[in-house]
Amino acid sequence: MDKRIDGKAFAEGLRARVASIAADFEGRAGRQAGLAVVLVGEDPASQVYVRNKGKQTLACGMASFEHKLPAETPEADLLALVEQLNVDPAVDGILVQLPLPAHVNESKVIAAINPDKDVDGFHVVNAGRLATGLPGFVPCTPLGCVMLLKDRFGSLAGLDAVVIGRSNIVGKPMAQLLIAESCTVTVAHSRTRDLPEVVRRADIVVAAVGRPEMVKGDWLKPGATVIDVGINRVPAGEGKTRLVGDVDFASAAPVAGAITPVPGGVGPMTIAVLLRNTIVAAHRNAGIALDESGL
Ligand code: NAP
Repeated sequence: MDKRIDGKAFAEGLRARVASIAADFEGRAGRQAGLAVVLVGEDPASQVYVRNKGKQTLACGMASFEHKLPAETPEADLLALVEQLNVDPAVDGILVQLPLPAHVNESKVIAAINPDKDVDGFHVVNAGRLATGLPGFVPCTPLGCVMLLKDRFGSLAGLDAVVIGRSNIVGKPMAQLLIAESCTVTVAHSRTRDLPEVVRRADIVVAAVGRPEMVKGDWLKPGATVIDVGINRVPAGEGKTRLVGDVDFASAAPVAGAITPVPGGVGPMTIAVLLRNTIVAAHRNAGIALDESGL
């Protein structure tokens, strides 16, 4: 079996499944499922993400509502827009693109989203549901990582997993998901002592650090599975840049049993899972049953 875990191919398959369910939903509900994306300001990376999200939403047969607001938009106006989207029956999922400008309180805006439309899974209600094993919405990137792992291995029960990073967006939900899969989970962070030694115990290593090529091949147990969440742009000479992960792919790939490349590993999963969460939200909001096992 190829050592590389092909997230691009898996994401394409997931989007095709979502598209087929979205067509069925439209027939049954008499309307398309809808995703609203709110972008405040002109951060170039965020603009690219939002454009891609919009394109892929439409390609899956769902409605896309884009709200682009100037960087100086007052917090109160943003909260009013979120409230309007909360009660709009055409909107099943709401995503507020982060980061928000400094004058806006991010937590307050996320807290204003109806948890049943919170397809990013960032609302504390959804974080609590994940932590306590209740159905809710799970952040897209870590859910995508678990989908790739389960697709490769089936059961993850009993495996030792080390998650490097403890952010609310990736590290913490990743750890919760792996606990739910019955892994023995260690969460490492910037204060962890002897990180290479901690990583060496792991059957599964998830790197979500934001430091280019930090995890080296000689940190890994031979045969370990490596999930590289990192997306770092580094200089590639002649004024050009290239994307690298948080794992040093060249030294890690020969030691690992399986590994996600960057790009083409975890990255493509995020939007595909967002669309998956949106079609799930649409069914829940419309009171239409959906078998989520194939999603
Ligand atoms: P973040 O909020 O900056 O969190 C980084 C985590 O790494 C923190 O918990 C930090 O520890 C830990 N850390 C930093 N330096 C470390 C070190 N030297 N040793 C061990 N741990 C260290 O980042 P994030 O939002 O979780 O994102 C992580 C990476 O994933 C970034 O490269 C980001 O671009 C990427 N990402 C990719 C996707 C995708 O779609 N594929 C989505 C989201 C994020 P402390 O808590 O102690 O500070």
